[in-house]
Amino acid sequence: MLLQIVHYNEPILRKKGEKIAAFDSELAQLAEDMVGTMHVAGGIGLAAQQVGRAIQLCVVDLRQAQVDYTWQLDGKKPPKELIMPLALINPAVAAIHEPTTVSDEGCLSFPEIRGDVIRPDRIRVQYRDVQGHPHTLDCTGLLSRCIQHEVDHLNGVLFIDRMDKKTLAELDPALKALKKQTRDARKKAG
Ligand code: ZN
Repeated sequence: MLLQIVHYNEPILRKKGEKIAAFDSELAQLAEDMVGTMHVAGGIGLAAQQVGRAIQLCVVDLRQAQVDYTWQLDGKKPPKELIMPLALINPAVAAIHEPTTVSDEGCLSFPEIRGDVIRPDRIRVQYRDVQGHPHTLDCTGLLSRCIQHEVDHLNGVLFIDRMDKKTLAELDPALKALKKQTRDARKKAG
């Protein structure tokens, strides 16, 4: 089932996600629906808040991205086709603070808005899969960046919060227009 992606500045995007305790078929279905929704929208990551749910679940799929990144899952390096799409539940990110990289990011809740964000390159993320099994993933590059962006969503943090003043000033008219569009759409929906 395709889910509706909510746009900035819906309040749900600012809600911290509840920890997930029930690893049941409903959760597996939601993760699957989020992956399908992300694919149709042309994204590489999607967090539960973006489909209107404040819970600790996000999905990531970089199989189509032609860029370099490294990963190690539970101490091994399985092919990316086996690990993706990734569903991360109750993820905790520990960042190795240096080196950092700057790259422009987009977000499915901010259509057509992109801006530079500085982030640590290397992270370790501990999470559970949809069956509830614990994993440790070490990664760099786009995979690390994408996971950091999604885990931020789970904590109510948006990529605009991490942009510098100059970037934000440039994006300001587009952000204001998007806010208004979202507000008008909500009014129309009643
Ligand atoms: Zn996003």
